Amino acid sequence: MTVAYAPRRDIVSKVRRRMTQHYAARAASLSFAQPILSITFDDFPASAADAGARVLERHGARGAYYAASGMAGVAGPCGVGYTAADIARLVAAGHEIGCHTSAHADCARQDVFTTLEDLARNRDALQAMGAPSPRSHAFPYGETSKILKDNLPPRFATARGILPGLNVGRTDLAQLRAYPLFGEGAMKRVYAALKTAAKRKAWVIGFTHDVSDTPSAWGTTAGDLNALLTEARKLGFVILPVSAALARRLP
Ligand SMILES: [Zn+2]
Repeated sequence: MTVAYAPRRDIVSKVRRRMTQHYAARAASLSFAQPILSITFDDFPASAADAGARVLERHGARGAYYAASGMAGVAGPCGVGYTAADIARLVAAGHEIGCHTSAHADCARQDVFTTLEDLARNRDALQAMGAPSPRSHAFPYGETSKILKDNLPPRFATARGILPGLNVGRTDLAQLRAYPLFGEGAMKRVYAALKTAAKRKAWVIGFTHDVSDTPSAWGTTAGDLNALLTEARKLGFVILPVSAALARRLP
């Protein structure tokens, strides 16, 4: 990713996006014994594996890293991408490595077979780096389609989008909701979500990219991440990677 791509914003794309989110390819009814927070990193920049993991681990928590193998070691707007050494350290420490496609293309505008081939390529690349076959997926730019949601490999227990909302009650495991931890007013919104989620024993997912004192427009400071985890703990949240969080669902 040498330039920041922006998905289409025309009216047809917007309507299609809304219909895709509304269509539950893997409808589930989720309930939990306590509220859960998952911190996820997309792409992911080396700083997420370094500074990001340090913050999580200080809280005794682990995160989920959605890796796009095409971005490994490559410099982009969020900094340089992860390396095989980052994968090894994260896996050894108990973090989750998820799939974020290999090419990081807009899956809403790409043939489904091309995407499925790309998902397999990403799995192979991650396994070659020592990661287990990913059990979770995040759509690049949050973009997906009905046909892709219907045809996600069964090895993925979940797929995550980028539309905000709590994951509790009627939920689509093929497009979990998530809050950005970057951008104007984002942290305020996620704090409000935590308050509601604490009462409803809901699952909140946050997503970001780089973690730095001077983050990109898509990144988070270590201080903001630390404050969020501190608040979540105060409200009684358990902080878990995505697949471990899903495993906490009540029967
Ligand atoms: Zn991404």
